[in-house]
Amino acid sequence: MSTLPGWRDARSFLFVSPHPDDVELGCGGTLAALVRKGASAEIAVITDGRLGTRDPGRSPEEIASTRAAEQEAAALMLGVRLRMLALPDGGPHDYYRLRDHAVALLRAVRPQYVFVCDPYLPYEAHSDHRMVGLAVSEAALLSGLPHYAGGSGEAHDVEGVVYYFPRRATDLFALDEQSLGLRRRAIACHQSQFGADDPIVARLEAQLARNGAAEGAIAAEPLHARTRAQLHIPGPLGAED
Ligand SMILES: [Zn+2]
Repeated sequence: MSTLPGWRDARSFLFVSPHPDDVELGCGGTLAALVRKGASAEIAVITDGRLGTRDPGRSPEEIASTRAAEQEAAALMLGVRLRMLALPDGGPHDYYRLRDHAVALLRAVRPQYVFVCDPYLPYEAHSDHRMVGLAVSEAALLSGLPHYAGGSGEAHDVEGVVYYFPRRATDLFALDEQSLGLRRRAIACHQSQFGADDPIVARLEAQLARNGAAEGAIAAEPLHARTRAQLHIPGPLGAED
């Protein structure tokens, strides 16, 4: 597997989550491992997760409040600072406002690398995931341009983007027992979303175990890393994709 030079040794990261729980599901073990190595990391959750129930008796506000508390517990578990933008779960979102939010985040946190869900998936139906992934990707191009006025803050260049839930992995990030345990406990903080034997959690666990076997580890998270230069006018078709 090719590995993007640099990101594993970077010292500062921003992890962007469309909803409470996505970062933990997509790259919670990687986040835990990087923090354990001494890197600084923050999680930014874009929407409030208010649609996250099938119980019509629970109000959206109650769900959002529950999920905010769960997300705070997960961030505490992982040892990272948390920012919650609380935009409406499910939108509607204006893409360019979302991009401004993403630029403002990058300029405020000033990470070397930003993690976000891969927006370039053929079968991702959830527009929050597609739009947040795209907005953060484009923000990575724009946040260092001093004349880009959308999004407050002083210009800041990130070195690249690392996608979780990737279409194609460039990296399998091997997890040891401790980082895998932190991932599991952080996911378990989202009690309103995942009961025992949750099928999504079980499917991801199986994927992590398969990836881990390929890497000689107990588990590995699939990631797709790109430098900032690889986010615009990429190389010849087939060379990278
Ligand atoms: Zn989500």
